[in-house]
Amino acid sequence: MNEESDRRIQRWGKALSIWRDVPDSDWNDLQWQMKNLVRTAEQISKLLCLSETETASLRRLQKQFRFAISPYYFSLIDTENPADPIRRMIVPSSLEETGGGEVDPLAEHADKVAPGLTHRYPDRVLFVVTAFCSSYCRFCIRKRNWKVSDAASTRAEIDEAVRYLRAHEEVRDVLISGGDPLTLPLDQLDYILTQILDLPHIEFVRIGSREPVMLPMRITDDLLRLLDKHAPLWINTHFNHPREITEEAAEACEKLARLGIPLGNQTVLLAGVNDDVETMKKLVHSLLRIRVRPYYLYQCDPVIGAAHLRTSIWKGIEIMEALRGHTTGLAVPTFVVDAPGGGGKIPLAPNYMVSAAPGRMVLRNYEGALFSYSDGEISSAKGGAPASSVYDLLTERAQHLIPQAQPHYERREAVALERSFAELAHSLTDNEE
Ligand SMILES: *Cc1c(COP(=O)(O)O)cnc(C)c1O
Ligand code: SF4
Repeated sequence: MNEESDRRIQRWGKALSIWRDVPDSDWNDLQWQMKNLVRTAEQISKLLCLSETETASLRRLQKQFRFAISPYYFSLIDTENPADPIRRMIVPSSLEETGGGEVDPLAEHADKVAPGLTHRYPDRVLFVVTAFCSSYCRFCIRKRNWKVSDAASTRAEIDEAVRYLRAHEEVRDVLISGGDPLTLPLDQLDYILTQILDLPHIEFVRIGSREPVMLPMRITDDLLRLLDKHAPLWINTHFNHPREITEEAAEACEKLARLGIPLGNQTVLLAGVNDDVETMKKLVHSLLRIRVRPYYLYQCDPVIGAAHLRTSIWKGIEIMEALRGHTTGLAVPTFVVDAPGGGGKIPLAPNYMVSAAPGRMVLRNYEGALFSYSDGEISSAKGGAPASSVYDLLTERAQHLIPQAQPHYERREAVALERSFAELAHSLTDNEE
């Protein structure tokens, strides 16, 4: 057995012997993966050794919500662990039958101006071009499209959307999403990109795709050639957990990056998946290593069937507090909450402005150090007193308030001490001369 299949088997776990004898040439083949999607309650039940009750619940769920899982993505599941984060994201759960939620929490339909086209922000639009994905996330906000799709899927619908864009010169960029646009037949994707980029006022196009995560073998040479033809193009992918960054996924991103396509990532904050600081840190750092820049971290929207995957907003704030300043800004996404009813994305972060008065502010950094900052003319008065309150900083009685035991300031003191020794030594030698 070669190294490649060894690695795969380590990932699968015992129960997944059904794929053990699949040759690598098949396993790495897009068509094979698509032909062998896991899509019935019986298959899942067998692969995960589910009880009869759990299987019955899957059968009921299947009537309500679509499911399909690529063998590749399924192989990332730790089948021994019922709480496995990959499993939570992709395997339907009986909890989907509880907890309520909305069909279209972001009211994308209400802002729909043409087939698949949601025009919410002044200068950019969302263009949903398919309801199809190779695997279906349980927290997807577009589940409404799983039954009756409002994507622009025919030529006529695409043309109608493009007519809208032609008439709206204020639109600078188009975010192509789905479903997953990279699952489209290449000629259709080519048609869409050509039509859109042909409009003189469209400056660039973005594609949102989870295929580098769910099915990296999708990033074929043919697809790469097509994407290359339509520069400037940006791709935002959708990694939620560090274990999704496999060698295959890394290679897919590498190929896209080598074409000069800037890669961003959108993560959904999910209970039991990535709602802890360590996992999120590992995710954002691993993303940078494969040249993917964390872009948004989304609060999980109140979509139907996903209540068990939602966290409190505070969780997101806590994660942002743990990232900003503690690691490079390149690794820090913007945490956003989508306003109910289609108000759009609202960024949330811990507060860094602690207090303010006319002409002066008190700001804090990630260490918790407080700084008096002139918000007007720079005054020459230098309050040198030790601060005993935020008000001292606001009234310039003091300049800063530094927390104790900060490695940064301990380092600074050590350096200052060293320097004064050096100066002393220097002046002594000078005197001798
Ligand atoms: C997220 C989104 C966009 C793109 O927003 P950016 O902040 O530019 O990434 C555009 N339209 C809709 C409806 C969206 O939800
Ligand atoms: S890949 Fe995106 S569109 Fe497809 S199911 Fe997952 S969240 Fe929904």
